[in-house]
Amino acid sequence: MTNVPDIFGSNVFSDAVMREKLPKDAYKALQKTIRTGAKLDDYVANAVAAAMKDWAIEKGATHYTHWFQPMTGITAEKHDSFIEPLGDGKVIMQFTGKNLIQGEPDASSFPSGGLRATFEARGYTAWDPTSPAFIKENTLCIPTAFCSYGGEVLDKKTPLLRSMEVLSHQALRILRLFGNSAASAVATTVGPEQEYFLVDQTLFDQRPDLLLTGRTLFGAKPPKGQELEDHYFGVIKTRVKDFMLDLDEELWKLGILSKTEHNEVAPAQHEIAPIFSTTNVACDQNQLTMELLKKVAARHGLACLLHEKPFAGVNGSGKHNNWSMATDMGENLLEPGKTPYDNFQFLIFLSAVIKAVDVYADLLRVSTATAGNDHRLGANEAPPAIISVFLGTQLSEVLDKIETGELYSDPGQSFWESGVAVLPPLPKDNTDRNRTSPFAFTGNKFEFRAMGSGQSISCTNMILNTAVAEVLDEFASRLEAAEDFKSEVNKIIVETYKAHKRVVFNGNSYSEDWPAEAAARGLHNYRTAPEALPHYLDAPNVALLSRYGVLTEVEIASRTEVLLDNYVKVIAIEAQTMLSMAKTDILPAASAFSETLAETALKKRKLGKKAEIEISTAYEETLAAQVSSVCACLYGNIDALEQALIESRGIDDLAKAAKFIGESVVEKMNLLRENADTLETIVARGCWPYPTYSDLLFRV
Ligand code: ADP
Ligand code: MG
Repeated sequence: MTNVPDIFGSNVFSDAVMREKLPKDAYKALQKTIRTGAKLDDYVANAVAAAMKDWAIEKGATHYTHWFQPMTGITAEKHDSFIEPLGDGKVIMQFTGKNLIQGEPDASSFPSGGLRATFEARGYTAWDPTSPAFIKENTLCIPTAFCSYGGEVLDKKTPLLRSMEVLSHQALRILRLFGNSAASAVATTVGPEQEYFLVDQTLFDQRPDLLLTGRTLFGAKPPKGQELEDHYFGVIKTRVKDFMLDLDEELWKLGILSKTEHNEVAPAQHEIAPIFSTTNVACDQNQLTMELLKKVAARHGLACLLHEKPFAGVNGSGKHNNWSMATDMGENLLEPGKTPYDNFQFLIFLSAVIKAVDVYADLLRVSTATAGNDHRLGANEAPPAIISVFLGTQLSEVLDKIETGELYSDPGQSFWESGVAVLPPLPKDNTDRNRTSPFAFTGNKFEFRAMGSGQSISCTNMILNTAVAEVLDEFASRLEAAEDFKSEVNKIIVETYKAHKRVVFNGNSYSEDWPAEAAARGLHNYRTAPEALPHYLDAPNVALLSRYGVLTEVEIASRTEVLLDNYVKVIAIEAQTMLSMAKTDILPAASAFSETLAETALKKRKLGKKAEIEISTAYEETLAAQVSSVCACLYGNIDALEQALIESRGIDDLAKAAKFIGESVVEKMNLLRENADTLETIVARGCWPYPTYSDLLFRV
């Protein structure tokens, strides 16, 4: 049995390790940097580097890497060994403060969205001391930020860190006004729930679409999907449970607070959630979790799919970003307490979030816009592309009453009586859950549910933090200037709710009426990534991010370009994969099958002639004709898709290319898929070149 407390964090250069290994003064100086962002001097950097190296070598490390998050949304690492030649043919292991603080990889092959020409290859990485270093396999990984020679941000960590600082500053201004002088920082906290699929590795290997695109591009509907609702929270299969145990152990060693695991709605779908932490650590750890999900799955003969929609016809995978704000003293600023109606500090922070989400709904939508996520949003398995806020009945009533100036009467705690004597009465929550809202208040935090499973959580949180910070800034300025603090607080809450309650929607976001109602309320509904992404560059959005020094206009333009470019490339790769599968596997398989039918018919006719009896060949002929006619359609659709792809390559403007690909190319892909899926249902199983949905979803 694993002793969890013993292994937990054993591969992390944690606070405890630093306290033990660092000289006292260096430890203190480093803590100050971590807490307040003070600059590190050479002495401290060298001391930390020496301690880190000794610790890492003790743990078997031979290499180090500046571990960073370029705009691809995944992590990057270049490994350097610790060796340093002595001149006598021997080496020592060396790692200096300079090595720790800064690295200089060739940045030319990372996406920069036009920020940097290839000949300007330099990139810089700078250590982020607020996220602990860790050991992965034989390598000491140092979480770092990444920027270009000219200083432009090229990664996902830097803007996130900036947004956290901005929010901390503005939230503290509000807290001071409410008389809190003890807190010295406010951090945003995040607990990301991660969904994924597991399929058998040998079956995965037989599907070029899974291998190249992470999702199935073909596949007829299996006889059984998720309609029996028997997978959600169902008994976890032994093979999957073994995988989860192994995964937990790896995550725990890395100090990741892996906590909850269960089966999700679709067959072969699961979820893992950690206990929340500060946002940049949560982001780093979510990246590591995604990496380990794949690595550990491989050890168990499984393939982990992080794609947002690996299978048509069953639910796809998302990531739920549970978000709140907390002081360094541990006070959760979105905790309503027992009497939210007279908890004005809470109501101010709540109002700030409501306004931020309403004003910057389009930016939040942008942060979820990818080719993969387009399959989920609005497909009755994930919230729609319309961003709205769920508050629940109690909080909505509280705000309604404050708005109209009426007194709120507390319904008091209610209990659920089971009617069974041995069961204790259970205190009832004041509000039910709402699973259809993109941005739901869940007791003492908000849960943003529109993110895709494969995405980095960085962009969403950068936007959320900055948008909320801006509103807090505005509130703080008003309150600081107010003559009567209490009445100004009240005024802010009333005005904010009046102006922004259009974004509050407690109903069913999956309902058919909601898009029309949302439109009447003036809420955006950007249904696809090509529709949403160009809004990154809308003037108010650029103003927000640049005003607080989170991203400059040039950096936002580069990010938009990277995202659009990625969208175009992802769909082009999918289309090319479909073409190759259709032409070289599916058509030949279907032709072979119809040839078999034709041969059988011929043989039967010959036999009949010989024996002078009538043998019917209707079945073979009808089926062969049916296969042939679907093949003819498929052949036509191959051509149509090829033409559309060629046309898309001729469009220079990225936004236009994305729009074209998202409409015309995707439409042709769907037609091609329809033909192939029809063939799959009539061609003999033995002739079909790929494992079916039944195999993939049920043979784990
Ligand atoms: P659900 O019922 O929504 O599926 P889970 O328990 O799976 O809930 O996940 C809830 C997530 O929210 C966990 O990661 C949890 O740590 C996180 N969480 C709880 N409180 C906070 C908070 N104050 N800030 C951020 N995340 C939080
Ligand atoms: Mg959950």
